[in-house]
Amino acid sequence: MTSETTSATTTTERGTEPLVKIEGLHKFFGDHHVLRGIDLTVGRGEVCVVVGPSGSGKSTVLRCVNQLETISAGRIYIGDELIGYREQDGRLHDLTPRQIAAQRREVGMVFQRFNLFPHMTALQNVMEAPMQVKGVKKAEATRRAHELLERVGLGERSGHYPSQLSGGQQQRVAIARALAMEPELMLFDEPTSALDPELVGDVLEVMKDLARSGMTMMVVTHEMGFAREVGDTLVFMDQGAVVESGHPREVLGNPQNPRTQEFLSKVL
Ligand code: ADP
Ligand code: MG
Repeated sequence: MTSETTSATTTTERGTEPLVKIEGLHKFFGDHHVLRGIDLTVGRGEVCVVVGPSGSGKSTVLRCVNQLETISAGRIYIGDELIGYREQDGRLHDLTPRQIAAQRREVGMVFQRFNLFPHMTALQNVMEAPMQVKGVKKAEATRRAHELLERVGLGERSGHYPSQLSGGQQQRVAIARALAMEPELMLFDEPTSALDPELVGDVLEVMKDLARSGMTMMVVTHEMGFAREVGDTLVFMDQGAVVESGHPREVLGNPQNPRTQEFLSKVL
């Protein structure tokens, strides 16, 4: 049965249907075979935490999901929709840039570096995309942006420029900015790795709140406490492949694969 037939009848209850389906994903950079057949499913409302050594392909997976990279083989679905391509007569045809932009709007991404617009206040950073991309009216965008900044604990800082904010505060603005587009999926690529240790906690709290609110999330992080607290699945990647996956408590408590064991012994 396809997700088309199930989505009409099931509720959005956590885990009842897949939101992200990655099937046989391969990625080459030139001759470099970086993703070697990734299969991965994330249920609607679930948090999938991806861990693994540097260079194992974690960022590339997220970048393929968000179409910052084209894929070399395989398929990615978000909901019922095939990402980046249209299927016709058993063949894949490229989508137009406009169609790709529409798909990307459904996905929010937060990077290690916060990449805020430096010449805009926190509020303006959060308002920008809804106004420019979605045509949201200024009054409505302002109201929403205040709400989102409140939600990430920065209600008092809306008029500050990025340079006047700590790294952790900037990252929380970046999260609010991604949420302003009302994505159905949020991707986080090591969102706390560039932060001073004392700033990590506030960002993780915002992410945990988001997880508890039912947002579907794929999170690359070395924060195993986060994985344990809100993760539904923990995926361990090595050399472009998923080596092990399961419930975080099981994978962390009783890793089966020697490569997982070795990696976890270093980060735990
Ligand atoms: P991770 O996020 O797990 O550290 P990445 O997905 O960033 O790993 O990278 C996986 C591999 O792909 C690495 O060997 C990296 O050097 C290579 N790679 C990533 N992006 C590019 C690119 N744009 N061009 C060439 N090689 C790349
Ligand atoms: Mg990476």
